[in-house]
Amino acid sequence: MKTSAEIIIIGAGPGGLACAKKLAENGRDVLVLERKDRIGPKICAGGITWNGLLCHVPEELLERTFYDQYIFSNLQHIRLREKKPMVATINRKNLGRWMARAAKHAGATLTIGSTVKKITNRNILVKGPDGNVHDISYRYLIGADGATSMVRRFLGIPTKKMGIGINYIIDEQYQKMEWHLNSKLFGSGYGWIFPHRQTLSIGAFTDQRNLSAAVLKKRLLTWAKTRGYDLSGKKAAAALVNSDFQGCFFNNIYLIGDAAGLASGLTGEGIYPAIISGEAVAKKIIDPAYPADEIFAMKKKQQQHYKVIQLAAKYPLLSSLLMEWLVVLLRIKILDFHILEMAE
Ligand SMILES: Cc1cc2nc3c(=O)[nH]c(=O)nc-3n(C[C@H](O)[C@H](O)[C@H](O)COP(=O)(O)OP(=O)(O)OC[C@H]3O[C@@H](n4cnc5c(N)ncnc54)[C@H](O)[C@@H]3O)c2cc1C
Repeated sequence: MKTSAEIIIIGAGPGGLACAKKLAENGRDVLVLERKDRIGPKICAGGITWNGLLCHVPEELLERTFYDQYIFSNLQHIRLREKKPMVATINRKNLGRWMARAAKHAGATLTIGSTVKKITNRNILVKGPDGNVHDISYRYLIGADGATSMVRRFLGIPTKKMGIGINYIIDEQYQKMEWHLNSKLFGSGYGWIFPHRQTLSIGAFTDQRNLSAAVLKKRLLTWAKTRGYDLSGKKAAAALVNSDFQGCFFNNIYLIGDAAGLASGLTGEGIYPAIISGEAVAKKIIDPAYPADEIFAMKKKQQQHYKVIQLAAKYPLLSSLLMEWLVVLLRIKILDFHILEMAE
């Protein structure tokens, strides 16, 4: 383990890896620390919107691509179709491997099994794979450490807008990608069925202030049964998704992806914002005059999504009506499906 690095990135998710690659390509000394023993696996449905995905991921990494999206509300059931795929699914393990390879190839150092335990203004303490605690100093520190970011806590930034997602992976093949805006069960959130090559991700996402994890899980099981899937007895995985954006740049300390709170509070989409903010922070370190407009574009999208959540929370009795209205607007094409994406 090194005793110093110009730039330390905590977390080797898509945000940390995208940032590491860009910095290393520009000749910077980058150390990425990842607490897990493998890079990639993450509780996630693996949905990537086409606009957000196009320029970032090679086609062979895609599990399935979908030209149709099936959207269900309490009263309606619609199919949206486009000439190019609207959403694709991706396996997080494969994405992580591919991104890690690219970051290493660019010259970044990646260390797995390394948990950051303490942060100060000039150094961090890391429990390494050897079990020892190492003291590493830095010039720049990047928090790419996810929704419960330690770097964010070190900066004293609270997190109020948090989503919760629960995911089941089952061994089954299915053709349709489905979104269920069932407001009675999920409030402003939704239940999903996202097919992968050999498996199916079935889950639900909602604003944490709407429902507790236990209630969300119960409702997810009830709803899944109505779709013909008995998930009781199967292993659920749950995690938080941070959509409380308060900024990325804090002198020589930076936040990206979920640590920065850049995911959508409405859909839970966070892979694209993580990659884009990772690259933007790298560009800002390389050239401090870089305006990072892409981050502010995502902030704007996130705020639009938040308005729907706020309306649903303020008028719970009207939230059913709001979802029906949203589906009508999508059906008659006054609203474009892409407004649900974090990408432009
Ligand atoms: C159920 C569920 C379904 C989802 N589905 C989708 C989806 O379909 N599409 C989509 O776009 N998004 C989805 N998301 C959101 C998406 O997974 C995240 O927004 C995205 O992974 C954020 O990327 P990141 O790089 O910011 O952080 P992460 O991917 O969370 O990576 C953070 C990394 O930091 C590491 N780390 C944390 N603390 C430390 C420490 N102290 N020391 C060292 N390492 C540390 C972690 O081990 C982790 O590897 C979903 C989320 C959930 C919970």
